[in-house]
Amino acid sequence: MTSDSSDQPPAPEPHAAGLPTVAEELRVIMRDQPAVFLKIEEAAVDATFMWDLDDPTRHFVSPRFWSILGYDADAIPPDGDWQGVADPKDLAAFHTAIEAHASCDGPEIEQRIRLRHAHGYEILTETYALTVCHRSNGPNRVIGIHRDLSRERQLEILLNETNTAARIGAWSWDVASGKIYWSPVTKLIHGVDDPDYQPVLDTAIEFYREGYSRELIQVVIAACLKEGTPWDELCEIVTAKGEFRWVRVIGHAERFRGENVRLLGSFQDIHEQRLRDLELAKSEALLSNSFKLIPSGMLILDAEGRVERVSASFSRLIGYAPHEIIGQAFTDFTHPDGREADAAMFDALEDTERPQFRSEKRYVDAAGKNLWVDVAVAAIRNDQDEISNYLAQVIDVTNAKSEEAYRVHLAFLEDKAREMEQFAYIASHDLRQPVLTLKGYLGALREDYDAKLDDAGREYVTIMESAVERMDLMIRGLLDYSRLSKSRQLEEVNLDEVLKGVLDDIEALRLETGGEIEAGGMPVVYGRHIELTQVFQNLLANALKYHRRGVAPRVEITCRAISGGYEFCVLDNGIGISDSDQDRIFGLFQRVGEGAHDTTGSGIGLASCKTIVERHGGSIKVSSTLGEGSRFCFTILTEQFQ
Ligand code: ADP
Repeated sequence: MTSDSSDQPPAPEPHAAGLPTVAEELRVIMRDQPAVFLKIEEAAVDATFMWDLDDPTRHFVSPRFWSILGYDADAIPPDGDWQGVADPKDLAAFHTAIEAHASCDGPEIEQRIRLRHAHGYEILTETYALTVCHRSNGPNRVIGIHRDLSRERQLEILLNETNTAARIGAWSWDVASGKIYWSPVTKLIHGVDDPDYQPVLDTAIEFYREGYSRELIQVVIAACLKEGTPWDELCEIVTAKGEFRWVRVIGHAERFRGENVRLLGSFQDIHEQRLRDLELAKSEALLSNSFKLIPSGMLILDAEGRVERVSASFSRLIGYAPHEIIGQAFTDFTHPDGREADAAMFDALEDTERPQFRSEKRYVDAAGKNLWVDVAVAAIRNDQDEISNYLAQVIDVTNAKSEEAYRVHLAFLEDKAREMEQFAYIASHDLRQPVLTLKGYLGALREDYDAKLDDAGREYVTIMESAVERMDLMIRGLLDYSRLSKSRQLEEVNLDEVLKGVLDDIEALRLETGGEIEAGGMPVVYGRHIELTQVFQNLLANALKYHRRGVAPRVEITCRAISGGYEFCVLDNGIGISDSDQDRIFGLFQRVGEGAHDTTGSGIGLASCKTIVERHGGSIKVSSTLGEGSRFCFTILTEQFQ
């Protein structure tokens, strides 16, 4: 045998299946085709190395080795020995392994070796090595690769850390063996401390809270096995420590040749989040129920003043459906006259010192009707003190407004009445005396000087007497008017009785005029007895008094209920009142038409009626046709008046 032939390694043993293994192939390439080996080395992403077991000074690592370790070409150690940057312990273990496997067809050596990076830190490599024989008496070369694991390892560490932080674990179930794999985080979530704990499907399912959660997981697993349906569910488990926890379980099936081979997925602890969500859902339900039930108009606006949420009562008030209101500007419903004030309100709310703004304004509802509302708007600020929302409360004050208008009007009327009473008081007291004096002297004139007067003188006295009589009548009328004191208390007034009394009082006039009076049933109202008597007295007396010459008066009194009270009408067939006079007759001392000449009167009766009726919350009006008759109607508002 030549030395050459003695160096020849024995031909590699064929693989059991008749094909050479990768290691065998490499050994042959290394021995017979070094050029090919060089090509492999150039193409490799990992570092390659070669090492002469006979001459330890002969070693080689590819340039890639040094670039993985962060060395520039000029910084590579002059001897180029990679072992100098390897961790001594790992290196010793590597040597031991080589020795243990040192045969020409020894198995592949696989070991992790820590190497020192040029910047000082360690990177982890996976080293695969083969011993190669160039001679027959044992291996004389070690060839191999160093694979940089640090990136994978970092990713693995990162993944682990993020999974632990997010409390996301993995799980899988090997259908054939029935074995379940739980990642460490999955075990942690289950409260399982034993790292060797090995659940099976039944024990894993038993962790789910009995009832809804357990039934749900059984259903989704069954569906996944049957239909391949993946799942993503929120369930409650009871941990090994007996605590209830909400988890999110995701799973799907891995199939091979139409069979389910594995179910796998993730398992996340979402307990705190879920509790927050449930709490949030509770507050949301509370808020939405409040918005349904709250009797006042309530709105939440966004930072731009657009409606985000609206209470059912606001929707009813304004006459628009909630979906027609949401998204609209809050000011869209305001009466055009109030838009500027709205803008000023939003400006004012920008001021942090002014968290709330209150105003009274008008809205225009869906039917175009004006509504008076009392609006309070508050700015809601976020952590950065920026306005995130507005909360608005809207209360309908339309009724209160009209009541207020009524009160203002009533107060005005009362003022006027008081002025008039005062005037009437002064007039009645101050004028009565000179009139009485005049009357007295006229009486004396007629008694003592009658004989001395000629016919003309007597006629003058008669004219003066009737003028003074009229003046006295007016002054007495004024006296009656001044007696309409508002201080008189309200009482239940039976108008049937009132009417009966009035008819008795005017019976003489009725007989004198040959009139007929017809009246229906009258209600009991709440008012002032004397005043209401006066109204009926005036109207009925007028109806008889102002009859057409030669036509017997026919008078009818009616009553009907109206909203909030009653309307009474006195209808006659008398002389009537011209259109132009109809407004005047309710003024003080107004006497109109032929009635003013033919009858005596003070022109105060209808003014009194008007005052009385208005003080009973009602109104009086006349409709009349000259020469045919008149209808006087007045209302008494019992409800509002009370
Ligand atoms: P008086 O009857 O004392 O004149 P009133 O105030 O009661 O005063 O009436 C004012 C005026 O209205 C009367 O003078 C009369 O011209 C007119 N008038 C009132 N009632 C009637 C009636 N029923 N028909 C026609 N004219 C009437």
